[in-house]
Amino acid sequence: MKKTWIPAFAGMTLAFCAIAKEVALDVGHYAAEPGVISASGVAEFEFNLALALEVKMELEKLQTKVRLIGERGDYALLHHRTRDARGAELFVSIHHDSVRERLLPQADRFAGFSLFISRLNPFPGKSLACASSIGARLKAGGFVPSRYHADPVLGEARPFADEANGVHYYDNLAVARRAAMASVLVEAGVIVNREEEQRMRDPQVRRRIAAAVAAGVRECLAKER
Ligand SMILES: [Zn+2]
Repeated sequence: MKKTWIPAFAGMTLAFCAIAKEVALDVGHYAAEPGVISASGVAEFEFNLALALEVKMELEKLQTKVRLIGERGDYALLHHRTRDARGAELFVSIHHDSVRERLLPQADRFAGFSLFISRLNPFPGKSLACASSIGARLKAGGFVPSRYHADPVLGEARPFADEANGVHYYDNLAVARRAAMASVLVEAGVIVNREEEQRMRDPQVRRRIAAAVAAGVRECLAKER
């Protein structure tokens, strides 16, 4: 009896812990300042909202609670986002990427996802673990890190935190620095690139990105003791 009871009890404990985790899922930008304008003229906020709603669905499938932040497009102050995330285990901010203004005429050269964390966050190790597992899941899903943010000429010389998985340090990033919990910013793809914008608008691609982000989040939260 004892032999069967112990593993069953251990399983229940794990399941209970999984349900108790909550993720703050932040929709980047807001109606009055909607972020990057895509190659076809659509505001980044629309892309961020569509993807965040999909990530929420995927996380809920994995028994993870989600607190959406900024989905109504009314969060003008960045610190209200991290303030309203208090109590969550992880803050994940959803964005879509651009390139430097002078490189916009060549924007079709730039594609892929990027992940950002801050060493000034109170949980830099956990932030990195979560970003790395999100990046690994995106790669396993066939997506490629963009890499250009690390380049001093093409990007902003953001150092790699985990080069293989497309994770960069961006220490002063407000939503990563100010969050009271581990925090990751996801740039899902480069929407000033015409082809990549079309991919980002494809509901099937969006679902695959969302499933990868959710699986990465779930994986890193499950690893935690
Ligand atoms: Zn953005």
